[in-house]
Amino acid sequence: MHLLILGGTTEASRLAERLAGHEKIAAILSYAGRTVTPAHQPIPTRSGGFGGVDGLAAYLRGHAVDMVVDATHPFAAEMSRHAADACARTGTALVVFTRAPWAKVAGDRWIEAADNAAAAAALGETPRRVLMTIGRLGLAAFRAAPQHHYLIRTIDPPEAADLPPDHRLLFARGPFTLDDETRLMREEAIDVVVTKNSGGTATYAKIDAARDLGLPVVIVQPPARPEVPTCHDLDACMAAIEAHVPAP
Ligand code: NAP
Repeated sequence: MHLLILGGTTEASRLAERLAGHEKIAAILSYAGRTVTPAHQPIPTRSGGFGGVDGLAAYLRGHAVDMVVDATHPFAAEMSRHAADACARTGTALVVFTRAPWAKVAGDRWIEAADNAAAAAALGETPRRVLMTIGRLGLAAFRAAPQHHYLIRTIDPPEAADLPPDHRLLFARGPFTLDDETRLMREEAIDVVVTKNSGGTATYAKIDAARDLGLPVVIVQPPARPEVPTCHDLDACMAAIEAHVPAP
């Protein structure tokens, strides 16, 4: 069976590890090509957009793909929409493998925002020291709130044109520990954290640290996804895939 994994996430990498050397499933992992140095994978990879729904449908047909696992990030809404449309058009099986979003717990001071522009507005008029952890794409929205100082943590360098004027860059790739996050917020005298509600454990320590320090978190909620069968853990995803392996 030919399987296409739409990746760029921890979930996709864990699935790739599980599928490496599988007797009946030949899997390929697709990256958007945004990260300069993606993690090494134990299965073949490809990189770059497919060219919209038409391009993806042509890829699925051209490579005789039997099934797609959409393991993209919860905020990769366009890719998920394209996957749903292209699979419906070509009759290809599709399952979503994604982490559940974080749920607010007692002590959290969350300010929920629908998108980055709303998050920038939610920071308010008074200048604050902001820990920005939304990734390098989407920073441009915060140019509309230039009164704040932004400590911007990303994996790769952002585009200069996207940066708010008062900023400092910090390059790091998770997972981060609670101690590290607490120390960073204390040393940098952070007043507020901005994050996406990305779910998963790799970057949750900042939520714990902000709660412990009593800091507010402006949290951008994930966009709506197409209605597709969805798994939140690796075993369930493997079971969904193996159910599609043709009988010998
Ligand atoms: P997006 O806005 O949903 O997708 C934009 C376009 O990028 C898609 O239409 C597609 O181009 C291409 N693309 C996206 N994911 C792809 C993949 N896995 N393989 C091949 N092409 C892909 O996506 P995004 O939010 O920019 O995310 C890009 C990548 O980064 C994804 O792999 C995602 O899992 C990962 N990621 C995203 C975030 C986030 O916060 N958004 C965080 C961590 C990781 P075509 O239309 O040309 O096919």
